[in-house]
Amino acid sequence: MQFRDLKSQYQALKPEIDNEISKVIEKCNFISGAQVSELEQELADYVGAKHCITCGNGTDALTMMMMAWDIKAGDAVFVPDFTFFSSGEVVSFEGATPIFYDVCRDTFNADVVSLENAIKAVEREGKLNPRAIVAVDLFGQPANYPELERIASKYDLLLLEDGAQGFGGKIGDKRACSFGDAATTSFFPAKPLGCYGDGGAVFVNDDDMADYLRSIRIHGKGSYKYDNVRIGWNSRLDTLQAAILKVKFKAFREYELADINRVANRYTDLLTGIVETPVVPDNFYSSWAQYTIKLSSREVRDGLQEFLKIQNIPSMVYYPKPMHTQKAFQGVGDYVECSVTNELCNIVLALPLHPYLSDEDQDGVCMAIKKYLNK
Ligand SMILES: *Cc1c(COP(=O)(O)O)cnc(C)c1O
Repeated sequence: MQFRDLKSQYQALKPEIDNEISKVIEKCNFISGAQVSELEQELADYVGAKHCITCGNGTDALTMMMMAWDIKAGDAVFVPDFTFFSSGEVVSFEGATPIFYDVCRDTFNADVVSLENAIKAVEREGKLNPRAIVAVDLFGQPANYPELERIASKYDLLLLEDGAQGFGGKIGDKRACSFGDAATTSFFPAKPLGCYGDGGAVFVNDDDMADYLRSIRIHGKGSYKYDNVRIGWNSRLDTLQAAILKVKFKAFREYELADINRVANRYTDLLTGIVETPVVPDNFYSSWAQYTIKLSSREVRDGLQEFLKIQNIPSMVYYPKPMHTQKAFQGVGDYVECSVTNELCNIVLALPLHPYLSDEDQDGVCMAIKKYLNK
């Protein structure tokens, strides 16, 4: 059994993917081929943003927004304590200070009360200039953007949606990667929409911002490549990755997103009352980057993971460490108590999940969990 079965997915899409890969190789248009702008248009239309600017990976996408907003030393950017390292790394990379806020125990996403306390604490101290909020669509579920947008406007802060795990999710009819002032995603292979290497994208509505992002991803180009009007860098999505993504995006829209929701809901049916299952609030729709259960203690979680491993059932701990306890962030950004994150890191366990997971394999996972817990 695979944690996220990319092999089955490839087998299902092989003729089309192989065909698209050979087309790129025959043409040798490896950089900035037509597939890149075609994909960008499809992605923008799907999420409901005016512009999509693809780039080298999800971390670069976040960094490009930090550059675009001129986030710099002396600035404070608010980041969830329970997320992948990147969400805060990009802030420090610009010389600014990430300030960690806590998440909600049921959704794993932004706790706006904790966020507001963190903003007030920074304002009270008066040393840093509050500039932006990073919100993360953790495990595939959009963060609470109606609330986050209210806080962002109350304190006059920019809001960035880190949708690396959230592509495909929704609140009502509004898709993930269309919230806040800008949004980013990642096409790392194991993300909801993944390519066959690294890839990422930024989504914005503002035309000037889109031009700026297209410029900095190619060395701050002006009217053409050898006219350089600003300092940028090099972060592009390869034509090969764009061609692969176009095929995978079609499957994602046509059935994979629906299938992964069916598999996730089946876990919830089978595991309710056995363990704490993930909560999707009314009006929210998840793209299920992960299916994360909660156990009663660290001992039980670690024991269960060991027990599953013996039976060749893979599972993962996302995330074992709060951001504020990472050595790289020592002495940085620790303004509010993040007790929920501290607890979650000890009790969460992500189960095998992908659109191609069979009922039989899923039953095996659930049976093993019940056996270990004597339920
Ligand atoms: C994966 C991930 C990123 C970084 O994406 P890469 O493409 O690996 O650089 C950023 N934020 C979150 C929440 C992620 O899960």
